Amino acid sequence: MTNPKNKSPSTPHRPSQGNRDFRSRIKREDKSRDSQKAIQHTPLQQRAGLPNAQPGIILKTGREKSLLRRHPWIFSGAIECINGMPSNGDTLPVFSDQGKFIAWAAYNSGSQITARAWSWNEKEIINAEFFRGRIECAIALRRDFHLTDTSTGMRLIHAESDGLPGLIVDQYGDVLVMQMGSAGAERWRDTCADILQELCNPACIYERSDSDSRALEGLELRNGILRGALPESVEVIENGLRFKVDVAEGQKTGFYLDQRDNRALTESLARDKDVLNCFCYSGGFSLYALRGGAKSVLSIDASGDALHIAEDNLASNGLDAARAEWLEADVFLALRKLRDQGRSFDLIILDPPKFAPTAAFAEKAARGYKDINLLAFKLLRPGGVLATYSCSGGISEDLFQKIIAGAALDAGVDAQIVHHLHATADHPVLLSFPEGAYLKGLVLRIGS
Ligand code: SAH
Repeated sequence: MTNPKNKSPSTPHRPSQGNRDFRSRIKREDKSRDSQKAIQHTPLQQRAGLPNAQPGIILKTGREKSLLRRHPWIFSGAIECINGMPSNGDTLPVFSDQGKFIAWAAYNSGSQITARAWSWNEKEIINAEFFRGRIECAIALRRDFHLTDTSTGMRLIHAESDGLPGLIVDQYGDVLVMQMGSAGAERWRDTCADILQELCNPACIYERSDSDSRALEGLELRNGILRGALPESVEVIENGLRFKVDVAEGQKTGFYLDQRDNRALTESLARDKDVLNCFCYSGGFSLYALRGGAKSVLSIDASGDALHIAEDNLASNGLDAARAEWLEADVFLALRKLRDQGRSFDLIILDPPKFAPTAAFAEKAARGYKDINLLAFKLLRPGGVLATYSCSGGISEDLFQKIIAGAALDAGVDAQIVHHLHATADHPVLLSFPEGAYLKGLVLRIGS
């Protein structure tokens, strides 16, 4: 498994009293040289009972609570000081202000989430064996719950929720796509790639570390092959439908695996319906609706590239192109135009991109969700169905439901929730990490 070309990270895993590299202390709020001198022997350090040279993160008084509840994120505001001069990606012990060990965490000075916990076990050593254990566990969950039965595509590792903060691995047949969204995951990238190569034996491991969230982490964007060679064409067969996956250029890691079950639900609702699929990407919901017997499906997306793939997907599945119409447009404008043209539909799907990556964007995002949902309610025929989604981590399920209720009220319709939906089970949610439940959906029927 060990590849000499890929040196193992030399992160210190244990506090070592004699390590000269970690001798100075950095106060979080002020990194000037003078202030470093000023805080070298703070009362806090004595209170924490830490030797001068011991590297680690010391939390502010009372700020250990969420970490003790096993939430893996340590925000910069919770940190009293950093002991030593760690590099981004290093594994550090985290201590309460009383010097009590709490967790091992990956450090990143460039992020608001200054550390992400790997483990709460003081005896754990964060090394290749640790990652092997976590990866094996993630693979076992998918196998034990038979999540591989309906699709050749699957989320193999769901970051924090699989105990591997910042690491996403998606599988498309014999191609794996890795996405490193934290300095810690970045540090262990080659170790994890070696383990995945050994356990899954893929033809290719491709790196898509080019999501917007990398910027928030202060990490540079990367896109390229990590192991093997990328086959000319990659596809996923999901519930018997074939979808082309553009691993190198497509959105996310190439496909929206999280909507698999929800797409299947759409198929069961589509018979003889006029369907409008907004934000259709490569045609996921549209193809299911067509196979389910929809009378017509109008699909809208702003990306011409995505629509080309969607049309290819339609053809490769032998579905009736005469019932499908594709429109390259901004959904916000297109919905208004459809309203002005007096168009109406029996089933509308709204699966927009992430409007609120964090709670800070929630207010603006809420306006966006309300706008498109209000328009959709107005375009529905009496008794029509709206399947509406939000993949914004910054919008809770509760808030999303309130926004939709407001939209229905303003549109003048009564609506019943028939389904509360989430991501497919290969996106498990760690109980102590509610942020893992980023995708929520409601299927509603309006009054007739
Ligand atoms: N439902 C899809 C995934 C949708 S992802 C599936 O099941 O695969 C969100 C899509 O919204 C992307 O394809 C993106 O190109 C598109 N998009 C983003 N902003 C848009 C806008 N303002 N108008 C139309 N499409 C938009």
